[in-house]
Amino acid sequence: MNENVTISTTCPYCGVGCGVLATNKPDGTISVEGDQSHPANLGRLCSKGSALADTIGLDGRLLHPQINGQQTSWDEALDAVATGFQKVIDEHGPDAVAFYVSGQLLTEDYYVANKLMKGFIGSANIDTNSRLCMSSAAAGYKRAFGSDSVPCSYEDLEKADLIVIEGSNTAWCHPVVYQRISKAKQDNPNLKIIVIDPRKTATCDIADLHLSLKPGTDATLFNGLLRYLNHSDVIDWDFVNHHTEGFSDALLSAQDSDLNVVHVAQTCELGSHDVELFFQLFADTEKVVTLYSQGVNQSSSGTDNSNSIINCHLATGRIGKLGMGPFSITGQPNAMGGREVGGLSNQLAAHMELENLKHHDLVSRFWNTDNLASTAGAKAVDIFNDVASGKIKAIWIMATNPVVTLPDADKVRAALQACELVAVSDCEQNTDTTACADILLPALAWGEKCGTVTNSERRISRQRNILAHPGEAEEDWWIISQVAEKLGFKEQFNYASSADIFREHAALSGFENDGKRDFDISGLATLSDEQYHQLQPIQWPVTTANPQGTERLFTDKQFFTPTGKAQFIAITPRPPVNATNEDYPLVLNTGRVRDQWHTMTRTARSAKLNGHIPEPFVEIHPLDAEKWSVEQGALAQVDSLWGTLLARVQITDTQRVGSIFVPMHWNKQTASLSRVDAVVNPVVDPISGQPEFKHTPVKIKTYQAVWHGFILSRTRLTLPDTHYCVSIKGEQFWRYELAGDATIDNYSAWAKQQIGQEGEWLEFADQTAQRFRAGMIKHDLLDAVVFVAPNHELPTRTWLSQLFTESPLSDESRSNLLAGKPGANQPDVGALVCACFGVGENTIKDAISCGAAKSIEDIGKQLKAGTNCGSCIPEIKKLFS
Ligand code: SF4
Repeated sequence: MNENVTISTTCPYCGVGCGVLATNKPDGTISVEGDQSHPANLGRLCSKGSALADTIGLDGRLLHPQINGQQTSWDEALDAVATGFQKVIDEHGPDAVAFYVSGQLLTEDYYVANKLMKGFIGSANIDTNSRLCMSSAAAGYKRAFGSDSVPCSYEDLEKADLIVIEGSNTAWCHPVVYQRISKAKQDNPNLKIIVIDPRKTATCDIADLHLSLKPGTDATLFNGLLRYLNHSDVIDWDFVNHHTEGFSDALLSAQDSDLNVVHVAQTCELGSHDVELFFQLFADTEKVVTLYSQGVNQSSSGTDNSNSIINCHLATGRIGKLGMGPFSITGQPNAMGGREVGGLSNQLAAHMELENLKHHDLVSRFWNTDNLASTAGAKAVDIFNDVASGKIKAIWIMATNPVVTLPDADKVRAALQACELVAVSDCEQNTDTTACADILLPALAWGEKCGTVTNSERRISRQRNILAHPGEAEEDWWIISQVAEKLGFKEQFNYASSADIFREHAALSGFENDGKRDFDISGLATLSDEQYHQLQPIQWPVTTANPQGTERLFTDKQFFTPTGKAQFIAITPRPPVNATNEDYPLVLNTGRVRDQWHTMTRTARSAKLNGHIPEPFVEIHPLDAEKWSVEQGALAQVDSLWGTLLARVQITDTQRVGSIFVPMHWNKQTASLSRVDAVVNPVVDPISGQPEFKHTPVKIKTYQAVWHGFILSRTRLTLPDTHYCVSIKGEQFWRYELAGDATIDNYSAWAKQQIGQEGEWLEFADQTAQRFRAGMIKHDLLDAVVFVAPNHELPTRTWLSQLFTESPLSDESRSNLLAGKPGANQPDVGALVCACFGVGENTIKDAISCGAAKSIEDIGKQLKAGTNCGSCIPEIKKLFS
């Protein structure tokens, strides 16, 4: 290849679904930039998307099929899956097997997996990790509209005069949508933004009002709003009377609880003035979008929370019009595609219903099967409960890591370890879940695979491949089809390409539809291979009558219920299932950080992305830190009835008193004891089955380690199984954060055991005081440092990390090495703020303090920080305060 080859594709991370231009260069490297022509991002990318090229590489990839840890041929591995599943089905019936799939799969992969399990194996035991992120929103839409239809487009956010962001740290979790909102606010001074979230997150940076409500009181707040709207006489009676049903019951429920402003404020632990202001703004503003996400969904009342929001939009007729609507934003790149093909265990394909006889007959005829499942299968948490109880004896997990992400995750691991047959398709060799597998099936990764995804605004976009298939890795749809063939269904799974599958999926959506079902992309059912290859982003429905797609749903005020009317749902707010108590007095909330994605299998490959937040942490309010005697920067142990974790303490008043926050990302591959979902209670919403990740009663205490330390090493190390060990890939080095509860008798010997001793060795040791520092220099380059202390007060790692790029290591750096801090003339950039340009906190602070930078724009001009993805702008703003 002598010239650049560029393809347009989509980012594989969050549900924003940004378009990416990926270029394969003659030197074999890949570069990425935002696709200006993609309507979701118009050229923007966040820090994660911008770092996609860093995550490509074959180190750690699963490249060959394996059975019991031994490499084997595709034929043998596929045979083993098919015969293993068939044996269980023959002996125990189809409900004794299950698939657990993922919002990371492409729609074509998802379609084939769902078709095999529901259509031919004859069980609906297929569920997806999207269950964990948006199933409550899907259930809420279905109850209200008769269909799982997201009514809005991103454009509505730009046309609104009020955006209510509920239960979403959009700035970190959907950064490009946040940037669009932020820009809209700059362009429209009338736009007001209200953030409803127990935590004061980076999203609050653009908020006119932040309601830090008590965890689990969302439905009370919105029931109160419904009552207020009624009292304020802003009900759209024409819409309510002609296009909805159930308003009086919903209102009665809201009034039953006597939800006046004062009562709402007391229940939600908010100021009455703030509640009144929110209600008033909502009542007085016609163009309102409520944007909601995991904070609403990940609750034992997630579906009710969702309907309490929708009720307020129905009552005011603010739906199906420009700049308004209840807008659930999905966590994963293809959560929506999964919903479209029926990836949830209670759905049939193409938004049809398992228990609807007409739908059953229609799909049976379309797929030419007489074995279509007719009742809902087990949902995610129940699938693993059934594995634990032995009811499910064979499971195939695709593109997901449930040992890290399911609540009560230790139980999930134990269940898989005891399961008769566990097959895992993945692109990674080593994950917490592949460690439990009997059969490993190598799948393609981003940049290699090819198909479609649907983002949060119903926009279908192509993912295209720019890299060849590495090793023996294959498309997921191919792997599933091969197993289907071995199970005897060759004819029905005889696909030659993802285009073949897409055409079938599109044809099914339009089959005997006649406008009766919301999901209809029959306008794409006859695409040629070339047209599929060239397919431009388009929002469904797409029919022959409407070939350009659909920006907004329900513009005609017709809904997909039997009466054609939208349904109000009467909501009686319920508290979270497990309340705090004397033994477990704090509420644990979980979520994401800015620069990592899910279980870090890809993003942790990027040194840039690891620089922002390198270690697992627990955020706690200063009053709680004092009460429970935990110090800033120390290690804390967090316990619940279900499990334990260790994390670094961050004391911050952005946390509510009584609540702590721990991110979801760290796992056994990156941290020895920091899987937060091992601590999370396995409670689910009774309708959606979505777990209550946002509310687990816990306690916290300081972790009393005998010693604390860190190692920075130019080469990757195999470290002893210390109680606390976090490994972090850096720029030209690996960083290990350590703490142990066993005394080390000879630090020098221990250090040499860890990093070797073939080089110039510098050392300071005070064994009695448990203080040790050593450095090793090879060929005038820093090779490794080891620092140990009796407590967590160790030098900052940033300056020492910078030395790995110094060639040769300067005399000044050598002489300051064991002090662990720079000399007067040496810069220390400080903790990373801007991941795109590697700009540290100290550099920004210096620019501010010397008067050179007076604004964010000045920082951008002088240091470039914040000028690419913009994800760090809220943090830069904080440095000015
Ligand atoms: S916002 Fe970031 S993570 Fe999400 S799709 Fe866009 S680039 Fe990817």
